Amino acid sequence: MKSVFVKEGGGVKVADIPVPKISDGEILVRMKACGIDGTDLEKAYGRPLTPPMLGHEVVGVVEESRSPDFAEGERVFVHHHVSCGKCYYCLNDSLTMCSMFLKTTIEPCGLSEFFKVPRMNVERGGVLRLPDGLAWMEAVFIEPAACVLRALKRTRFTAGRSVSMVGAGPTGSLFIQLLKLMGASFVAVAEISPFRLQKAKELGADATANPLSEDFVDVCRCGTDGRGVDIGVLATPAVRPLQLVIDSVRRGGTISYSEPPKRVKKPS
Ligand SMILES: [Zn+2]
Ligand SMILES: [Zn+2]
Repeated sequence: MKSVFVKEGGGVKVADIPVPKISDGEILVRMKACGIDGTDLEKAYGRPLTPPMLGHEVVGVVEESRSPDFAEGERVFVHHHVSCGKCYYCLNDSLTMCSMFLKTTIEPCGLSEFFKVPRMNVERGGVLRLPDGLAWMEAVFIEPAACVLRALKRTRFTAGRSVSMVGAGPTGSLFIQLLKLMGASFVAVAEISPFRLQKAKELGADATANPLSEDFVDVCRCGTDGRGVDIGVLATPAVRPLQLVIDSVRRGGTISYSEPPKRVKKPS
């Protein structure tokens, strides 16, 4: 089968490798679609910040099952990691910080014709059946959309809240659509790329600004009776624009940003 790997020194290579053999409790999935995440591009072409596995937004058909929970032919979404559910981090709502999280991974990767799902991932809810009508290309958004929903949950977002966001890339675009779907009263977006700014408008942002030439804080105040927004979101990998998010939020508001991952050593 063909699988995509990070090439030494940068870039990617397609390798012909054997189809993984599965053991009790595991399943083998035939990949149907796999999203390419910003972290995949970082691994392949920039600074590797996470382990060198490519492709984790993955959906497919169960090719072989040695688990009582899944049958061959079922359409599934597979999450690439699961948490232990017992450690300090798991018990304190930081599942992705669990030491088991990065160790429980699909093999060899999502950008592969077939991949194996370890028993722990199958048993701990890492595999979900897809509804019949859901297209593969839509289903690959389950993982990124889940990241956005989790962030919104942590900000205690509810319908009627006003939100500012700096960055309107793929993640920011999901934020805008989900926020409007969930009843945000006002969504203001700051973005320096004119293309992304235009996309943000098309996806439903109530106000947009290019912070290089416009006063984003003013835009946020104008949409909220001068107060500033309830929730500010930093949706860029860079931490520098965080100040802009902070300035756009009202007194007593909430801020969401993700800690940049610790850098790992380049694969050798
Ligand atoms: Zn992702
Ligand atoms: Zn844990």
